[in-house]
Amino acid sequence: MTRARLCVAFLVLPLLFPGFARPGPLAVSTDFPGGSAEVRAIDEGEGRIEIAPSHHENAGWPCWWYFRVDGARPGRRLTLRVGASDKPYRGDTKLAAGWSLPQRAVISADDVAWAHTAPGVVTNGGATYEITAPAGRFWVAWGPPFLPSHAEALLRSVAEESPGSERFELAKTREGRPVNGIRIGTPNAPGAVWVQARQHAWETGSSWVGSGLVEWIAGDDPAAVALREMAEIWFVPIMDVDRVTIGAGGKESVPRDHNRDWDEAPIYPEVAAAQRRLLGLAEGGRLRLFLDLHNPGPGDKRPYFYGPLDYEQMPAPQRGNYDRFLRCAVEAMRGPLAIDPKYRFATYVKTDEERRRVSGAWVRRHGGENAVAVCLETAWNTPDSTAEGYRRVGREFAQAVARYLGACGSGGPVAEGTAF
Ligand SMILES: [Zn+2]
Repeated sequence: MTRARLCVAFLVLPLLFPGFARPGPLAVSTDFPGGSAEVRAIDEGEGRIEIAPSHHENAGWPCWWYFRVDGARPGRRLTLRVGASDKPYRGDTKLAAGWSLPQRAVISADDVAWAHTAPGVVTNGGATYEITAPAGRFWVAWGPPFLPSHAEALLRSVAEESPGSERFELAKTREGRPVNGIRIGTPNAPGAVWVQARQHAWETGSSWVGSGLVEWIAGDDPAAVALREMAEIWFVPIMDVDRVTIGAGGKESVPRDHNRDWDEAPIYPEVAAAQRRLLGLAEGGRLRLFLDLHNPGPGDKRPYFYGPLDYEQMPAPQRGNYDRFLRCAVEAMRGPLAIDPKYRFATYVKTDEERRRVSGAWVRRHGGENAVAVCLETAWNTPDSTAEGYRRVGREFAQAVARYLGACGSGGPVAEGTAF
């Protein structure tokens, strides 16, 4: 090949094959929605990239990381070293490293399909992942990203699949971005269910759980069809759109965490708008379920619910609803990420005043006596914590909802005394 032809080949090949690029120099970028990484070192010769999560002033925990690598030679073994952010996120408080260090990171050659890396070596201060470059350009992240673009694609496909469903804009964020959702089922049905994810921006798994849930509800399963006839389901895949978009963690933001904003004067428009809709659903006792989707700590290996802190003091009929909902969940959520058969209680929230500002507590005060309000925490640090693993949790959670509301025919609400 002549030199001129060689040059043309290098110009044309990347256009024909986007994964083809002349290797080197290795470069890291985050200039896209959700991107987050502070580059600490790139060693071209050793094939080593060192990063920490980006720090965003007042935007909560710096634990999420997601970046693009350019200039790699496909098939080259690379070492990725991730350390904790060394900047305080609130006052003088720095985040414990473990929140930034999953046992397995995720890698993608197209920024669409993600696979777990091999388990990394995780220590108190950092994690080391050995990866193989799948292309000259590829992406690596803390977990499978779920961005406003994913939410848009999901809402569009669910709306197309479900005649009579209605997309809605819940609110515009403080920074002017839309917070979108969808209503499925029978308008003004006797039962209403509210599902929301991502009050905490870093918890991408919760949006994937929500995806699985809403896809099942919109689908052909006879129990899903029955559920849509007897109930209306409201779903918001991302609450904190602002922090998700900039790649921040969100939790414990200044001045407020989204899930501590549920009082009479919320600072986040999306929280205020959710409260208004929930008050409407509570009229006439229609609100049956309020489901807030989250991800827990690195050591939690199975999903669990946070139940009401006043569970022990609840009147018997209300406590019975919580018990029956948990039994329905245990029957339906069999795993591999199987639900913990006991409620946990967020006793780590220190003051009564703060406890009252948690979403579930607000709903229990305002949602009417028929409402069950729980928070689902889906484990993120397991081999099954993939987009598909999370969606499976969501499908099974939707089946629990159908059981609880009696949409499963003979398999309907489980009997009192079912073993769990
Ligand atoms: Zn959370």
